[in-house]
Amino acid sequence: MDKVQVILRDYNNTMGSELACPTCSEAYLHQRNVTVFQRYEDEATTVVMQQNENDMHITTFPSRGTCNPSPRRHGLLIEFECEHCHYTHIDGEGDEMPREPLHRLAIYQHKGTTYVEWQLG
Ligand SMILES: [Zn+2]
Repeated sequence: MDKVQVILRDYNNTMGSELACPTCSEAYLHQRNVTVFQRYEDEATTVVMQQNENDMHITTFPSRGTCNPSPRRHGLLIEFECEHCHYTHIDGEGDEMPREPLHRLAIYQHKGTTYVEWQLG
């Protein structure tokens, strides 16, 4: 998995900053699934809340078995689909190719600091 710096585009006084796609830098990102990891410092278990288009699941897992972006505390993953990167993938012969994996925006705590990054792949 590649980690990429988060870039914000223009700031709009009524809407906030535009989040730029980590691969093409365009602003047309669509939010998809969200996963929240509730873990107090070094707890053996993590409560994982996963939301998709139709449901919300809340499950407690051993902390080492989750994909929590934080190695020790709380974390959040938001999946995004880019209008430019994910909708049209045409190969050199003109055939439509499968979509690339969604981009994941990770926000997490580590040693009192909150970090934000893109996770690709
Ligand atoms: Zn893109």
